[in-house]
Amino acid sequence: LRHALDRGDLELYFQPVVDIAGDRLASIEALIRWNDSVLKAVDPEQLIKVAEETGFILPIDKWVLAEACVQVAAWRTGVAPQLQLSVNVSNAHFRSSDLVESVRGVLADSGLPAAALTIEITENLLMDDSVQILDRLRELTAMGVKLALDDFGTGYSSLAYLKKFQVDTLKIDQTFIRDIATNDGDLALVDAIIAMSKSLGLTVVVEGVETPEQLELLKARGCHLIQGFHFSHPLSVDEMTEYLADEKTGLN
Ligand code: C2E
Ligand code: MG
Ligand code: MG
Repeated sequence: LRHALDRGDLELYFQPVVDIAGDRLASIEALIRWNDSVLKAVDPEQLIKVAEETGFILPIDKWVLAEACVQVAAWRTGVAPQLQLSVNVSNAHFRSSDLVESVRGVLADSGLPAAALTIEITENLLMDDSVQILDRLRELTAMGVKLALDDFGTGYSSLAYLKKFQVDTLKIDQTFIRDIATNDGDLALVDAIIAMSKSLGLTVVVEGVETPEQLELLKARGCHLIQGFHFSHPLSVDEMTEYLADEKTGLN
């Protein structure tokens, strides 16, 4: 992992989030990829887990944030002026005292406006409940950066947290979507999350949408921000450049 970072072997892919109401691209999420000559394609979840255990998560997270902002700023000056970016930020990064300054620096260096960036956090970060974490979240929000709660429903989802932290978006975890066409319980949970989000004024993104059946069910419930293989797998920079050029996204 250390060599991969030094050698520049890590790569970013980007996955579209599609707005099916407006029939346009809503945003893209940066996702790390490591294709090692010996290990081959390393599972990103495994990669992040090992990085967290070995302390490499901090340099990796910083690299991802910087690289993604530079790339999206470049797309915004070309094919997609309104392009919005989401980046996953690890809890370890949030616990480091220079998080806010490093985000500020990355935005200044890349020229990406704060309003074009959403930082994805997970529920267990909010469980941490420390004054520092709360302050960092507030400072990011004050800067104009948006916050999304990733994998929603898999952790200790607490309504109190949703009120306390200025989260803009909930991303419903794909485990709830997988069986919605056949499992009434999952569908009921998704319904409940949607209803709650609406009354709290939160935006909902649904992850892991793979089939037309799932899409239709979600559409009928007024969910219109969809991320999943049904629309697109994560794309390399070249593939995304092509996607943006082809897409009648309404972004221009
Ligand atoms: P995540 O942030 O929830 O990202 C969504 C994951 O769902 C991605 O997996 C994506 O490829 C996958 N996905 C998207 N659509 C579908 C679908 O329709 N079906 C299925 N089965 N999967 C779908 P990926 O890229 O393997 O990443 C896994 C997790 O690793 C991410 O979950 C995130 O928690 C973490 N991760 C990935 N990149 C980064 C990064 O740059 N920094 C940090 N800190 N974590 C990252
Ligand atoms: Mg994510
Ligand atoms: Mg997720």
